[in-house]
Parts: sequence; C-alpha cells; structure tokens
Amino acid sequence: MSEIKNPLEIYAVLAKTNCGQCGVPSCMAFAAAVLQGQQKLAACPYLEPAAAKQLSQRIVQRRSLEDDHQQAIEQLQREVVGLDFSLAAPRLGARLVDGNLAINCLGKDFCITPSGEMVSDCHLNHWIYVPLLHYVILCKGKEPQGEWVPYNTLPGAAEWSQYFSHRCEEPLRQLADVHRDLVFELLHLFGAKPVALSGGADHSLLILPLPKVPFLINYWEPEEGFASQLNILLDRSAGENINAQSINLLARGIIEMFRQLILRHSHDGKLF
Ligand code: SF4
Repeated sequence: MSEIKNPLEIYAVLAKTNCGQCGVPSCMAFAAAVLQGQQKLAACPYLEPAAAKQLSQRIVQRRSLEDDHQQAIEQLQREVVGLDFSLAAPRLGARLVDGNLAINCLGKDFCITPSGEMVSDCHLNHWIYVPLLHYVILCKGKEPQGEWVPYNTLPGAAEWSQYFSHRCEEPLRQLADVHRDLVFELLHLFGAKPVALSGGADHSLLILPLPKVPFLINYWEPEEGFASQLNILLDRSAGENINAQSINLLARGIIEMFRQLILRHSHDGKLF
C-alpha cells in the first residue's frame, strides 16, 4: 500500500465541489488539513466510508508549522538550562529579576526563567519566543556600532532575504502608505526614536526589538509618479548577537502585531 504524503493525492479523490460541508471552505484546504491531522476524511460526506478508511491508512501525517516551532522552542529551552543568568544579563543588556532574565523588547519586558519558559504581560507567540531564546543563547554582547546594513548582508541571511523583503518590508510599506499616522503612532508607542534621516528618506526611525539588535526603518513617502519605499536596516553587529532567521521572525512578528492593531483601530475595520 503506497503512502500518501502530498495533499494533492488526497484532493484527487475528493468531490471538488468546495461545498464546505466538512467545515473547511474548499476541498484543497480540507486535503491539507487532513494531511496535518486537523481533519478526518470521514468529515467529507461525499467520500464512501470504506474508501475514506482505506485512504486514511495510507496517509503519512505532515507535522504542522506549530509542531515545528514547538519542537524548536523545546530544543532551545534545553540549551538555556544551565546558563548562568548573572553572567548572561550584562551580555544581553537584560536585567536579573527574581532569578529570571528580564529582556526589554520594544519597550515591554519579557522574562525568561532558568528553565527557558517565557513570561510576559504581552501576548506570547513563536515570533517572539524563538528569537528571544536564540538571543539568550547566541548573543555575544557586541554593542551596536551605528553602521547600518541591509538584511541580506548579514551572515546566513541569503536564503531568507526574499522572505524578509516580501513578508516584512513590503507589508510594512503598504501599511504605512494607507495608515501612515497609525503606523507612526504605533512605532512611537513601541519606543521608536527619530534619528538623522538616512539615504534621503522622509522618515528614519530606530526601534529596539532586542536590547542589542536595533532596527532602522526608513520610509520614503510616495510623490508624483513615484511609489513609496521602505527598508529595514540592521546594525552590522546584529550578526554577532542573533541569527538571520530570528531577525526575520522578529520583523514578521512586529508587522503582524501592527496589522492586528490597525485592524482593531481603523475606522472601518479594514486594512486596505
Ligand atoms: S465536504 Fe468534501 S466536497 Fe465539500 S468542501 Fe469538504 S472536502 Fe470538498
């Protein structure tokens, strides 16, 4: 009996009506959910029970992204255990509070316990959890030099650079074009400081997602015939304090947080 590892193989046997009776909006989404173990084939009323049972036995379930992140967090937690927090605190630019590391991210404290758990008043998700643990483990304590470089010049960034520009810089540019006041208000709320304008930008703001990993956000407003531009630059020292993947996750997490906040606060409840 051959194994099924691809959602297209499941999709091929579905009725393809996209009727939604399985609780998922389309047959393709249903096939993907089945492969990730989030749905059972029996939920589709168009599949014969015997065929569904036979097919189920051939499916090799794919791990979800959430599972991958959870596994990464557990691995990183094991590396945090055993670190001497009193030595780590100055290296990280963190404070020692009741035996925990209090690390300031965008003006809010996130505490890492000696077992690698994260505690904060803010909403926790893998976009912050994974980078914070990487920061605790990898940060060499290099002070930022004020030498701003594009993300793709950092060590190990090449494979992530397209993702960084498409999923971080471009969405932030679009948000700033449509909700400029709100985006700048949010940036200030999260501790952004205006700095000397960089590269002819109309706005240059410095934010601190991690104490020793600053981001410089440059935004050029649109003007007659020219589209707006936005880039996020990193201090050259960033490569010694964290890895490229975590910078990506952090930036993505910040943009996603802004999207959610703008959705909640925009007049019509729409992003665009
Ligand atoms: S119930 Fe079956 S046919 Fe309808 S959308 Fe779901 S998978 Fe497709």
